Amino acid sequence: MNILVTGGAGYIGSHVVEELQKSGFTPIVYDNFSTGHEAAVPDEVQLVEGDIHDVRFAKHIMEQFKIDAVIHFAASSLVGESMTDPAKYYFNNVEGSLHLLEAMRGAGVDRMVFSSTAAVYGEPEAVPITEDSRLAPTNVYGRTKLAIEGMLADYDHAYDMRYVALRYFNAAGASPTRDIGEDHSPESHLIPLILKTAQGVRKQVSIFGTDYPTADGTCVRDYIHVCDLAKAHVLALKHLLSGGSSRVYNLGSENGFSVRQMIDSAKKVTGVDFPVVEEERRAGDPAVLIASSAKIREELGWEPQHSSVDEVISTAWKWHKGHPHGYCG
Ligand code: UDP
Repeated sequence: MNILVTGGAGYIGSHVVEELQKSGFTPIVYDNFSTGHEAAVPDEVQLVEGDIHDVRFAKHIMEQFKIDAVIHFAASSLVGESMTDPAKYYFNNVEGSLHLLEAMRGAGVDRMVFSSTAAVYGEPEAVPITEDSRLAPTNVYGRTKLAIEGMLADYDHAYDMRYVALRYFNAAGASPTRDIGEDHSPESHLIPLILKTAQGVRKQVSIFGTDYPTADGTCVRDYIHVCDLAKAHVLALKHLLSGGSSRVYNLGSENGFSVRQMIDSAKKVTGVDFPVVEEERRAGDPAVLIASSAKIREELGWEPQHSSVDEVISTAWKWHKGHPHGYCG
């Protein structure tokens, strides 16, 4: 079966492409390379340079490749930038998804796995966070993803477009079997920043806030290995392709680790005692975000394989060591 992967040249998209291939699907990557990397797409995978805003072209590609379903990653995803440039986020994420859905409707493709985010919850009332927790995003990025989830529900209701929205917690790590990894520009995520520091590409790691109501005062997050995340996409796809109804699932490891714990693990894994400085809180960071992934475990039989943070960091470290300057070197 042929699966169109928008944003398939990005971090999570490229790992899902690998998992699709392993599972016998044929991925077709559709990416405008605004943030994706051509080198993240293997030679044997069909790569189409295209924009999700281009309804006619996207429809043409879906027809040409006889696409059975779409996995939609293409989006802007920097929380800080979403606050200073909301127009970019409403345009790329909300309007871009609308255009992609219209291309799908035109081409008669009626199944989508959608890349959503835990940012739709905002500051949680309680952890672990379940899918029916309050939806109150605190940033524009989360608001755009929630708007798209609403759009998908409406398209389901009105046009029988079935979808699975996957709300990711902190995706981390890298494929142990393929030369792909996490490379954002600018980089704002904790693990790549830590590893760049261990490599000497950056001077120091900043801890944003040490006065949170957590055991060591630093923020706690749920880091999920990107390969476990990728497996969930294939399960979601199979669910839709076998006639399953629309669903929304959290995807997290259900374990919380503090910023200090991540730094300690990285020092152990890399063997480098890199400099760490304590700074003020970063605006908009909730103290603790931990997922309940019980729903996808029960309904789709998802089982994460990489539960240890050391393992997450060591797979990321392997990629970073080979690519000190990301895909550029
Ligand atoms: N963080 C940090 N220093 C950094 C980058 C991130 O202390 O240089 C913290 C951040 O405040 C958050 C956690 O690490 O509590 C994870 O941040 P990241 O940006 O990786 O993911 P987020 O949870 O914001 O999606």
